[in-house]
Amino acid sequence: MRRGSPVREPAAEWEAAGAAAAAEARAAGEQAGAGAAGEPERSARDEQPKALAPSRARPRATEEGDVRVSRRLPPALPLAPSTPAAQFFCQLAKARARGSGRGYRRNSGPLRPVTVDSSKARTSLDALKISLRQLRWKEFPFGRRLPCDIYWHGVSFHDSDILSGQVNKFPGMTEMVRKITLSRALRIMQNLFPEEYNFYPRSWILPDEFQLFVSQVRTVKDGDPTWKPTFIVKPDGGCQGDGIYLIKDPSDTRLTGTLQSRPAVVQEYIRKPLLIDKLKFDIRLYVLLKSLEPLEIYIAKDGLTRFCTEPYQEPNPHNLHHIFMHLTNYSLNIHSGKFVHSDCASTGSKRTFSSILCRLSSKGVDIRKVWSDIISLVIKTVIALTPELKVFYQSDIPTGRPGPTCFQILGFDILLMKNLKPMLLEVNANPSMRIEHEYELSPGVFENIPSMVDEEVKVAVIRDTLRLIDPLKKKKEIQSQQPEKLFTSKENLDYDLSGDPNSSPDAHLPSICLKQVFPKYAKQFNYLRLVDRMANLFIRFLGIKGTMKLGPTGFRTFIRNCKLSSSSLSMAAVDILYIDITRRWNSMTLNQRESGMCLQAFVEAFFFLAQRKFKMQPLHEQVASLIDLCEYHLSLLDEKRLGSRLAWPILGHPPPSTSW
Ligand code: ADP
Repeated sequence: MRRGSPVREPAAEWEAAGAAAAAEARAAGEQAGAGAAGEPERSARDEQPKALAPSRARPRATEEGDVRVSRRLPPALPLAPSTPAAQFFCQLAKARARGSGRGYRRNSGPLRPVTVDSSKARTSLDALKISLRQLRWKEFPFGRRLPCDIYWHGVSFHDSDILSGQVNKFPGMTEMVRKITLSRALRIMQNLFPEEYNFYPRSWILPDEFQLFVSQVRTVKDGDPTWKPTFIVKPDGGCQGDGIYLIKDPSDTRLTGTLQSRPAVVQEYIRKPLLIDKLKFDIRLYVLLKSLEPLEIYIAKDGLTRFCTEPYQEPNPHNLHHIFMHLTNYSLNIHSGKFVHSDCASTGSKRTFSSILCRLSSKGVDIRKVWSDIISLVIKTVIALTPELKVFYQSDIPTGRPGPTCFQILGFDILLMKNLKPMLLEVNANPSMRIEHEYELSPGVFENIPSMVDEEVKVAVIRDTLRLIDPLKKKKEIQSQQPEKLFTSKENLDYDLSGDPNSSPDAHLPSICLKQVFPKYAKQFNYLRLVDRMANLFIRFLGIKGTMKLGPTGFRTFIRNCKLSSSSLSMAAVDILYIDITRRWNSMTLNQRESGMCLQAFVEAFFFLAQRKFKMQPLHEQVASLIDLCEYHLSLLDEKRLGSRLAWPILGHPPPSTSW
């Protein structure tokens, strides 16, 4: 297969999964419809750190202290096992749970249950509770004095100080997916691999790139007078459509206001989205970043689609301000009056993604190709984000110091174009995991009503994330490979009498809804990981643990150790390069507390050096050649150092200074 060509292999499996999920969803929807006819569909809102909360008046989130009534408690196991085998194992599991008299893991012998601190879970608490009950893990809703295996945070890594276990957030992720940072990270990749990264609309960062925006638009218009673009302006750190508007021209007066008030991204507007029932919609897909090093990515087989509530028309000066036509945000469309609440997964203003795929498939759309392109988009986006995440990670959890390991569920917002090409709109570090919809009974009085669509998708994502990161899995696997040990306790003997000792302890649960896509498809995408390799070089020369910026000495050492200076690049020129680029980046970036060169500035300097050294090649080849060269010199240096260290004890004294 050609490098970077669309992922083909998983598509059949996913298509089948999509169709099955759609059928299941339909059945569930019908059931729910029969049981709760007329109940409005429930909502979800992206959780954001408090500092980023939009100012517009709206019902407050539960954790903010509203008095509200919850109509029902989360069920212990809402997903009834569908197959006879699953039913059998479910009964078996129940019998074992009764026998043991506690919620310990079936089949686990003396193993204790996995412990989860949910005290900081905020609005994801309900979905988390259901997941934990299904897994029969032990929840600590008020925290615990002893360490827990897993800490579930609603907002950020820094919600509490953790020294061990696993936490469901990476340090720095919230910063990385802000509109400006994400656009910058993707821009670097677009410079290196323009074709591979054409799934992100062309974007400019305001106010820094306003002049560039004006001149580039003018140049294209001059070349093609028929080009009638539309742009969408999005405030940095905004969410739920807050402060977003469309413009036709850079001279629009509203843009002047934005330039003066807050940083933003202005982006080419996708004029021809795929429509269903004449309505624009976008897709929320859940992606699990299970590990940063080595990179492990999973994608949920089902997601949500959020619909506009006014029929779509291509933007023109008369409809630019019609938010219910152009913006798919749930939080906006809920107020339109035409919002259709539905507990059926395939109707209404919020539906499952599988129901959309099913519908497209029935119209002859090649669902395999759609999935394949979405998987590519997700892997490429994560590849763009991980270099800087690594810098954050080593700064918060320096190697050799105690700290937790991290994983994170991300929400990818994707728009399908009319030609079915998926386009990335944004990535959410804290995708809403609410499974309730706030229903306004009378002005100011809210009630929480469960949402089948949200619950079906989100509980599966949380539960299966936990299954994948299960810290006791290894122990359990070892135990199940040593049957003689299993018979040492009464519990295991009981188990043996009541069923197959080799059966999976997860047998009562549905199959895992998260599919691994990386490293599974690493071979097709590894060539894109150039910035990742640059980040490794950057981190190596950072020096002091806990920093995120490279000082002038670190940069000089990098140049020296990688043998990049020459008669045409003096160390004085290196110092000037450092000062020039660092100063410019520090005037643009938000983190000005620390002085020094940030990763993006280092990448810019690296591009400059690569272009100088390897002329006449495409940029990505120049950069790859320079990285190879740097890694080669550093490996020689490491070997030399290792050799010297090994040689000392033999020689009995350090080598003579001349050999250094
Ligand atoms: P927010 O975080 O405020 O929701 P988004 O980037 O998700 O910001 O944009 C809000 C909505 O605007 C999206 O859900 C989508 O419907 C629409 N939108 C955003 N960017 C584009 C674009 N480039 N082209 C077309 N529609 C867009």
